[in-house]
Amino acid sequence: MNVKNCPRCNRIFVPQGRRICPVCIREDEEKYERVRAFLRDHPGSTLLEVVTATEVDEDTVLQFIKEGRIESSDLRGPSLRCERCDAPIDSGKLCSSCQGALTKELQKAAGSLKPSSAIMDRDKKSRPKDKMFTADMKDKL
Ligand SMILES: [Zn+2]
Ligand SMILES: [Zn+2]
Repeated sequence: MNVKNCPRCNRIFVPQGRRICPVCIREDEEKYERVRAFLRDHPGSTLLEVVTATEVDEDTVLQFIKEGRIESSDLRGPSLRCERCDAPIDSGKLCSSCQGALTKELQKAAGSLKPSSAIMDRDKKSRPKDKMFTADMKDKL
């Protein structure tokens, strides 16, 4: 079965397309509900006010914004910034120009994987030769 460790709590779980385990997902849901309820009652709060009132850590609140579950415009003060060039953005992790650059890099990385599979092919092909050599030896004996 395809299992992995939860990057947050280290529990082993079956990903099923999820990044974190079901326990952490439920914790996130509860935090999300708290943040959303607070912002509904106190629109235009600062990140600090949200963190203080909901006791949800700043990283988690920012994660909700990154995932697009909370509008960064609901918050006053610091909004999201691109992880690469620090340009202000509305959602996600990267601005559109960095997103494009990253996609190109990933394509390049995928292309560089090909040589290693070619080496494996060569290894497979060398085996029949070994057998032929052994057969030769037998004929001579
Ligand atoms: Zn977890
Ligand atoms: Zn950028």
